[in-house]
Amino acid sequence: MKVTFLGTGTSQGVPIIGSDHPVCLSKDPKDKRLRVSVLVEWDDYTYVIDCGPDFRYQMLRAECKRIDGVIFTHEHADHVAGLDDIRPFYFRQGDIPIYAHKRVLRSLIKKYDYIFATKNKYPGAPTVITNRVKNKPFQLKELEVIPVNGKHGDLQVFGYRFGDFAYLTDMKTVKDKEIEKIKNVKVLVVNALRYEPHYSHFNLDEALDFIKKVNPGKAYLTHISHLLGFHEEVEKTLPENVFLAHDELQITI
Ligand SMILES: [Zn+2]
Ligand SMILES: [Zn+2]
Repeated sequence: MKVTFLGTGTSQGVPIIGSDHPVCLSKDPKDKRLRVSVLVEWDDYTYVIDCGPDFRYQMLRAECKRIDGVIFTHEHADHVAGLDDIRPFYFRQGDIPIYAHKRVLRSLIKKYDYIFATKNKYPGAPTVITNRVKNKPFQLKELEVIPVNGKHGDLQVFGYRFGDFAYLTDMKTVKDKEIEKIKNVKVLVVNALRYEPHYSHFNLDEALDFIKKVNPGKAYLTHISHLLGFHEEVEKTLPENVFLAHDELQITI
C-alpha cells in the first residue's frame, strides 16, 4: 500500500493569506501545507480521503489520473470544498463512489444540490454514487476498511483503518474501545494542530499521548497550523517513531 500526503495543513493552509508570521514566510517547501488529504493506493486502486479546496491542484501535483472513490471524514469545508473538481474523473470514468456518514452525505447534498439532482440535471455536473458509512467495517474492493469513531469538539468524525495503515484527522477525543481498533497498527497518521490546546483538535501533547495509547510502529502528524513552528525544528523535538508529515511525502506500508 502506498500513501501520499496531498495536504498536511490546517483549515486555512500554511501560509495563511496575508500573514507575516515567520512560518508563513518560510522558504522551506515542507512549511507549505495545503489542506489535509491523502491518496491511498493498493493493487490498481486509488482512493482519496477527503477532497478539500486544494483538491484540483493536489490531483495535478500528484499526477493522479483516476480515482476509485472519495472517503470523507466529516463535512467541514477544508475536507469537502473540492467536490466539484471530481469532474475530470467523472467525465473519464463515470459516476464516482463517495463514502461518508449519513450526516455528512446530507450536508453534501445541501452544499452541492446540483451534483445530487435527479431532474433536469446540468450535463456538466458530476454524478456520485453515495455509500453510507456506519461505525462498522466496509469493503473497498478486496480490502476491509474499519471506521474509527471520534469527536471533533461536539462533531462526530470518522478516521479509517486500511490494513496496517490508520488515518485519523480532526480528532479531539477518541474512546478506548475505538482505540482498540487501531492498536499496534504499523503506520498511524493523526492530527496535531499546535502547542496550545484547542476545543476541537489534538494539540501536540494530546497527539503524542494518543500515539502512546495506540502504540503504532510509526506515527505521522498532520492538520498542522503555522503555530506549531518550522517543520525542521519541530521534527527534532519528536519521539523516535513520530514524524511531521509534509505535503508530497510518500510512505509505503
Ligand atoms: Zn479540518
Ligand atoms: Zn474539521
